[in-house]
Amino acid sequence: MRVLVVGGGPAGLYFAGLLKRSNPSHEVTILERNPPGATYGFGVVFPEAALGYLGDADGPSHARIVQALETWRDLTIVHRDRAVTIDGNGFSGIARLELLRLLAAFCEEAGVVVRHGAEARAEDLEGYDLVVGADGINSMVRELGAATFWPRIETLTNWFIWYGTRRVFDTLTLTFRANNDGHFVAHHYRYTPEMSTFIVECDAETYDAAGFAGMSEVDSQAYCQRVFAGDLGDNTLTSNNSTWRQFPVTSVENWIDGNRVLIGDALRSVHFSIGSGTRLALEDAIALWRALVEFPNDVGDALRAFEAARRPVVEKLLNAAAGSYGWYENIAEHMRLGPFDLAYDYMTRSGRVDEARLRNIAPRFMDDYDRSRLAG
Ligand SMILES: Cc1cc2nc3c(=O)[nH]c(=O)nc-3n(C[C@H](O)[C@H](O)[C@H](O)COP(=O)(O)OP(=O)(O)OC[C@H]3O[C@@H](n4cnc5c(N)ncnc54)[C@H](O)[C@@H]3O)c2cc1C
Repeated sequence: MRVLVVGGGPAGLYFAGLLKRSNPSHEVTILERNPPGATYGFGVVFPEAALGYLGDADGPSHARIVQALETWRDLTIVHRDRAVTIDGNGFSGIARLELLRLLAAFCEEAGVVVRHGAEARAEDLEGYDLVVGADGINSMVRELGAATFWPRIETLTNWFIWYGTRRVFDTLTLTFRANNDGHFVAHHYRYTPEMSTFIVECDAETYDAAGFAGMSEVDSQAYCQRVFAGDLGDNTLTSNNSTWRQFPVTSVENWIDGNRVLIGDALRSVHFSIGSGTRLALEDAIALWRALVEFPNDVGDALRAFEAARRPVVEKLLNAAAGSYGWYENIAEHMRLGPFDLAYDYMTRSGRVDEARLRNIAPRFMDDYDRSRLAG
């Protein structure tokens, strides 16, 4: 079978490597527009429980990824200078560049042809038995097949910017800060022993009041450093083409267009606040590969099996993500709460966790929360 994968991000690389390794007679090519080693952003975070599935799909690549992970148990919420610890979570972080490097090595060992610096055009997609659109949130494969895929894109009103810093944080942390312009939250966590991701988010009113639209990259960075000066210590923020963006919530009505299928962010975007975009991209890759192994002689049956297996899981997570980003869109309102009430409100935001469940998974936090309520 001749397979073209458009996009060499986590979804495309992992799918291509799994397919070629399981059946070396397949001809598998990836077109990736960027040169090797180029990426945006810094680290990504996974919920801890999400990593086991990689071990089931391929032991050796899973072992290499696990070695590169930073892990921690608790989540910390900082509000009004008070740090609230929420136990029972469990997360892992990894440099995005390192994850891509490990997955690219997996592809190379398996014999996948990866063409870097190759921007896919419409005519490049012809002549294959299967075309996989793993080309991210602005997918050209999705746009070419828009009449069949029926994409829906809703842009959130909040603004965010993705920085790094040399300040190393003990846990995944959300830090809330206010100034005369408005309300900010930083999502930050370490992804190597020396570096942390530091995503700054604010609502639209704050973005306008601060004047970020007319600010240079350097001035935006300096402004954010001032807002989070107490949290960064002596460290600065590091930019990597960091620009203010609004998150596009993207999904498609139909997953398949003839012999073309979408995976990862091309199929749907998951808001970064639930830390699951990369995880879902890798799970899509595994599910598509498994469907092709199950139906080796019929691409159509394989694609339908992929969709049947994945759609319910994805839709459940998208509902949770909607609860989560909706919460951030009202950050000014939540910041009126005290630190423990805000933390409780945050933990129950997606509707997946109620009080009873929270008592079960985060008993230490709930004891602290109860005490804070009694203290008034
Ligand atoms: C601020 C922010 C923070 C995030 N934090 C996290 C996090 O903590 N945890 C997490 O799991 N996820 C996080 N994510 C999401 C995560 O980055 C994505 O979900 C994940 O990268 C999706 O993988 P993918 O392979 O589908 O797409 P991508 O990683 O976007 O890869 C797509 C690839 O396709 C290439 N491409 C695009 N068009 C073409 C073309 N025409 N021709 C050739 N190549 C093309 C691109 O260059 C790119 O390499 C975050 C995202 C953002 C924006």
